Amino acid sequence: MSARIKAGDLVMVVKPAVCIGGALGIGYVYQVLDVITHDRAVCVHCGRSHGHVEIALEKEDLGVETWRLQRLDPPAESVTRVTKEEIKA
Ligand SMILES: [Zn+2]
Repeated sequence: MSARIKAGDLVMVVKPAVCIGGALGIGYVYQVLDVITHDRAVCVHCGRSHGHVEIALEKEDLGVETWRLQRLDPPAESVTRVTKEEIKA
């Protein structure tokens, strides 16, 4: 893993959840709201807890384990923010 994932980072899911395998969710991109550690987080795929995990939240109660994510560089801000200057015809 490269630099640690933190709030505000743009991340992409690159590994499947341990319980489902396959490619479900791979390639999904989102911006991290916050990074938390959790001992009893319930997996959305199997409904069980996978133990102590570090989760990059997308929403208040929804996120993906950080080991399944790849941080995208450069961050979203510099890629997606278009200044007035740039869009003027
Ligand atoms: Zn699961």
